[in-house]
Amino acid sequence: MDLIDQHGRVATDLRVSLTDRCNLRCQYCMPAEGLAWMPTEETLSDDELIRLIRIGVEHLGVSDVRFTGGEPLLRRGLPAIVAATKALSLRDGSGAPRTAMTSNGLGLKRTAQALADAGLDRVNISLDTTDPEVFARITRRDRWQDVVDGLQAAQDAGLGPVKVNAVLLRGHNDTEGASLLRWCMERGYELRFIEQMPLDAQHGWNREAMVTAEETLALLSHEFSLTPLAGRGSAPAEKFLIDDGPHTVGIIGSVTRPFCGDCNRVRLTADGQIMNCLFAREESDLRASLRGGASDAEIAVRWAAAMMTKLPGHGINDPSFLQSERPMSAIGG
Ligand code: SAM
Ligand code: SF4
Repeated sequence: MDLIDQHGRVATDLRVSLTDRCNLRCQYCMPAEGLAWMPTEETLSDDELIRLIRIGVEHLGVSDVRFTGGEPLLRRGLPAIVAATKALSLRDGSGAPRTAMTSNGLGLKRTAQALADAGLDRVNISLDTTDPEVFARITRRDRWQDVVDGLQAAQDAGLGPVKVNAVLLRGHNDTEGASLLRWCMERGYELRFIEQMPLDAQHGWNREAMVTAEETLALLSHEFSLTPLAGRGSAPAEKFLIDDGPHTVGIIGSVTRPFCGDCNRVRLTADGQIMNCLFAREESDLRASLRGGASDAEIAVRWAAAMMTKLPGHGINDPSFLQSERPMSAIGG
C-alpha cells in the first residue's frame, strides 16, 4: 500500500509535529500571548508516535521523516524518537529512513551531538535576521545568540548541510535578504527564503504585505548573480547557484509559485491527526484508531484513505480560500 492520492502523487515524506508549544512568538506564526496548548492527554505519547511512524515506514512507503512543531526541541523524548525512527527499515531494504528536523535552534547547543548520535541526519534552523534587535522584534524574544550557537553546534555535530529558513517580513527584515545570505555563505549554511503564508494563528496574513519570491530574487540580484538550477523534483525550494558557486540559495514561493503538483508530503500532528496538506481543512484521526485498539494494518488503511481527499492545490490564490482552523505551529511546517 502507498500513500497515493487521486492525482497520482505519492507521499513518502512524513512531517511529524512533536508538540504545538514553542518558546518563541514569531509574528508570522503566533500571537504575543501564545496559544492554548494541546492538553497532555490529547498529545500522542512517545510510544504512540513511534508506532505511527513505524506504520508509515513499514506499511506505507515513507522514506523521509522530518521532526517539527511547534518547537521539536521542547519534546523531552526527542532523541529516543529519533533513534526509534532510525532503527526502522525502509520497505525496499535500502536502509533506514532519512531523518531531519526543523527547529528554531534554541537549546540545540546542548543537544545537537546527542541528536546526531541518535541518528538525526540534518537540520533546518529558522533565522530571519543577522541583527539581534530585529530578531527580538520578530520573535518577541531576545534569543538571537542562542540560535546562532545552535546553528554552530549543529554544524559541529555533523547535522549538515545545515539549512537556514528565513521569512522576510515587510518593515522588519525585508531589506536584509542579501546580508543574511552573505552571513550564511560565510558560515557554510544553505539559506532558503520562505514566502509568508496564511497560517498564523491570529489570521493576520495580508497578501499585499507579503514579500514575494520575485521581490526576494530582485533584492538578491542587486548583489549576487543567480543562476537557476535544474532538478528540483518534489523539493519545495527553487535553487539558485550564487555567482560561480559553490553556494546556493533556495526560494520557496509557496504562495506565488506553488509546487503542489509535485508534493510528496504528508503531516502527522502531535495529537495524532493526519493532514494530507499544510492547508487541509479536514483531518483524519489516527489517535482514535490507535487508542481504540486498531491493528497496524487497519491504521495503515485509514491513513491511506486520508490521502484520497488531498486537493490538487492549496487554493490560497482562489477567492474562496479559507485558512485552516489549525495554525502552522500545531500542524508542523
Ligand atoms: N519552531 C520550528 C521553527 O521555527 O523552525 C519549527 C516549526 S515552524 C512552524 C516551521 C517553519 O515554518 C519555520 O521555518 C518558520 O519560519 C516557518 N513559518 C512559520 N509560520 C510561517 C508562515 N506564516 N509563513 C511561512 N513560513 C512560516
Ligand atoms: Fe515557534 Fe517556529 Fe512558530 Fe517561531 S515559527 S513561533 S519558532 S513554531
